[in-house]
Amino acid sequence: MPDMCKRTFKATQTWYEDADKYWKGVSANDDGMLGGLAFVHDPDVRDSLEFISTLYAGSASSPGSQYACDCGAGIGRVTKHMLLSRFAKVDLVEQNKQFLDAAASQYLQPEIAAGRVGDLMAVGLQEFAPAAGRYDVIWCQWVLSHLTDDDLVAFLRRCADGLAPNGVVCVKENITTRGYIVDEEDSSVTRAASIYERIFARAGMAVVHAQMQTGFQPDMFGVKMWALRPAEQA
Ligand code: SAH
Repeated sequence: MPDMCKRTFKATQTWYEDADKYWKGVSANDDGMLGGLAFVHDPDVRDSLEFISTLYAGSASSPGSQYACDCGAGIGRVTKHMLLSRFAKVDLVEQNKQFLDAAASQYLQPEIAAGRVGDLMAVGLQEFAPAAGRYDVIWCQWVLSHLTDDDLVAFLRRCADGLAPNGVVCVKENITTRGYIVDEEDSSVTRAASIYERIFARAGMAVVHAQMQTGFQPDMFGVKMWALRPAEQA
């Protein structure tokens, strides 16, 4: 296993700074958010909506539909095309302020004017702590690869505190077939599904639903979606 989890504190700081530098050079549009693979947008949104629907399929413990949080939101692609079609209001968390500025001035301008977007929080997930009991769904997509294992465990524990009754944390990430693949260029680590699942367990979260993304190119990483609840409520 690459030793990204064994880095010293200083090296961990560099890890986050390097990712920040990388994203500062990326265009604030859908193409930038998707690493130039704009064709994945439609199947991505379709499968995410289907995944969320299953959480509401006739169960007494379905999450509410009031308030979602988009983590690693970028310019708000997921918020605009996916979360706002299911939730009354969405907050965004994103470390790159330029992306949030583009969301506010342009990309999410109509949704903000309609009062459907709440807070735009410019902070890294390694530091973000949601307000207690606030969210029905905390959605984390294509961002958790930027967190070290230990920071991811701590982040998920804080998310558990940020959930409203029956709330869930949803994770949608690229996966490897085994082990870790570290990308030094953007400071990210792609993990095997089993590694994510061990991290969820360490954070005290239970998987209540999981599904693979369909319809992407065969030469791309697999993409998996999980819905998590604090284990004592699952
Ligand atoms: N989830 C969005 C954006 C994906 S691009 C979508 O699917 O369209 C990845 C995003 O994660 C970028 O906006 C990048 O700035 C952000 N990011 C990277 N590291 C982060 C961190 N530590 N905390 C919060 N956001 C981070």
